[in-house]
Amino acid sequence: SFIVEGNGEQQVGILLNELLGTSEFGSWVDGELVTGNGDNIDLINPATGQVFLSYRDAGKDIVANAANAAIKAQKAWWSMTASARGQLMWKCGMKIREAAESLARLECISAGKPIRDCRVEVAKVAEMFEYYAGWCDKIMGQVIPVPTSHLNYTRHEPYGVVTQITPWNAPIFTGGWQIAPAICAGNAVLLKPSELTPLSTTALVNILEQAGIPRGLVNVINGLGHTTGSAAIAHPATKKVVFVGSPKTGALIASASAQRVIPCVLELGGKSANIIYPDADLDRAVVGAQAAVFSAAGQSCVSGARLLVHRDVYQEVVERVASAAGKLPVGLPWDEGTMVGPINNQKQFNHVHSLVSDGIAEGAVVAAGGKAGTICGGENGYFYQPTVLANVKNTMRVAQEEIFGPVVSVISFEEEGEAVAIANDSRFGLAGAVWTADVGRAHRMAAQVNAGTFWVNSYKSINVMSPFGGFGESGYGRSSGYEGLLEYTQTKSVWVETAKDAAIQFGYSIQ
Ligand code: NAD
Repeated sequence: SFIVEGNGEQQVGILLNELLGTSEFGSWVDGELVTGNGDNIDLINPATGQVFLSYRDAGKDIVANAANAAIKAQKAWWSMTASARGQLMWKCGMKIREAAESLARLECISAGKPIRDCRVEVAKVAEMFEYYAGWCDKIMGQVIPVPTSHLNYTRHEPYGVVTQITPWNAPIFTGGWQIAPAICAGNAVLLKPSELTPLSTTALVNILEQAGIPRGLVNVINGLGHTTGSAAIAHPATKKVVFVGSPKTGALIASASAQRVIPCVLELGGKSANIIYPDADLDRAVVGAQAAVFSAAGQSCVSGARLLVHRDVYQEVVERVASAAGKLPVGLPWDEGTMVGPINNQKQFNHVHSLVSDGIAEGAVVAAGGKAGTICGGENGYFYQPTVLANVKNTMRVAQEEIFGPVVSVISFEEEGEAVAIANDSRFGLAGAVWTADVGRAHRMAAQVNAGTFWVNSYKSINVMSPFGGFGESGYGRSSGYEGLLEYTQTKSVWVETAKDAAIQFGYSIQ
C-alpha cells in the first residue's frame, strides 16, 4: 500500500508535481497548464467525502484557445510521415509504462478505484498507444474497379479536430481509449474529462507530450459539461464528437452535434444480462458473476447487473454469490487487498440506494448487502455493501434502470427462449454473457442476445484490438480495433480520368 493521509490532498499534490510539474490544477492547453475563469469546482475524495483540490471551470475562452492550438498542431501532425507518427505513438506507450505507478495512484485517490484495478487500466492505456502505433502507416484506401477509362481510389482522411467527452468511472482508460485512435488517424483532440475526475487524463496528456507528441495536438479542457463541454461541441473547429457517458447526456450531445451537422459516436450505459445454465461449470460461473458486477464497485458500463439463472440452479447460485459478496474485501482504494472501493460520488451513491430500496419495495429479497457500507478510516466515504437482490422480476425498476453500483439483480428463467426474451427486454444492449457447456446453445445465445459484446463462459474480457460499442440505447458507433480507428477518419473518393478521348463527357465535347 502507499500512504494516503487524511483526504489525500498532500499525496495528490506530490503526484501532480511529479506528473505535471505543478500542484496547481486547471486545463492543459497547447502544452501548458492554464487556469479557467469559470466557477470553482471541488474535487472530493470518494473514500472520505472530503474536498482535496479545487480548480476553475475552463469556459469558452480556454476552449477557443485550445481549438486554435489544435488546428495548428493537427496540420503539423498530418504533414509528418505516417511512420514518424507511429514511432511517436509507440514512445507514448513506453512513457506511460514508466509513469504507470504514479498515474495509477493519482487515479486511485481521485476516482476512488482500487489500486489493483487502476494498475490494470493504466497498463491497458499503454497498450492502446502501442496498438494504434502499428496502425499509423497501415491506414490504406482501396482502388475501386471502375471502368478502365478512370482510376478511382479512396483515402481515409482525418476530420481535423475532434471533441471527446468522457465519464468519471474509468477516467484515464476512457481518455486513452479515444485519444489513441484519434491521433493515429491524424486528428487533433479537445478532450473534456468528467469534471469529477480530471486529474489522471490531464497528467496523461503531459506524458504524451514528453514522448514527443506535438504540443496542442491533445488539449484537456477541464470543466462542467454544460459550460466547457458544450462550448467545445459548439466551436466551429470541432468536426466530430465522441461521447462516453450516460444515455441522458448522450441524447443532448447527439442533438448538439446535429445542430452543427457534425457526426457523433455515443458509448452509453447498459443493463447487461449474464445468463447461467445448469450445465455450466458453476464454480467458474459464480466467480464470473461476482467479477461481472462487483469489480469497480459495479461502476462499469458492461457490468453484469442482471444475473439470469436457470430455475434448477437458481437457489444454489443465489446462495453462493450472496455468500461470496458478504466476504469481498470492501475497503480503502489504496489498500492493496481492497477489491471493492467506494462509489465515486454522493449523487451516484444516492441513486444506487434509491434503486435498491425501490427493488425491495417491489418485492426483491436482499440475499446480501443492501445498505451503505461502513469502512474504518473512510469516515464519510461513499461505500456501499456488495448487494445481491433475489426474486427480481425483469419488469422492476431495479432490473430496467442502470444502477452503476455493486448490486446484482438475480432473475429466474426456465426455457432458453425465455432467457433470450428477458435478456432482450431492455432498452440497452451493451453486453451479455452465457455460462453453459453446450456449444450449440452458446452460439445460439450469442446470435440472439441484442448486445454489442457477448461473452461465452467469460465476463468482461476486452482488448483494444476488438471493436466495442452498443446496440439500442447503449449507443452507436464503435471504439477500439480497426472499426474504432475508422470512426476517426472520413473517406474521400478520388477520380482520375485515364481514357485518351477523355474530354468527351455527358454529351459535351471539345469544339
Ligand atoms: P454523464 O453523462 O453524467 O457525464 C459524462 C460526461 O458528459 C462528463 O464529462 C460531463 O461533464 C459531460 N456532460 C454532461 N452534460 C453535458 C452537456 N450538456 N454537454 C456536454 N457535455 C456534458 O455520465 P457519468 O455519470 O460521468 O458516467 C456514467 C455513465 O457513463 C454510465 O451511464 C456508464 O454506463 C457510461 N459509460 C459508458 C461506457 C461505454 O463505453 N459504453 C464506458 C464508461 C461509462
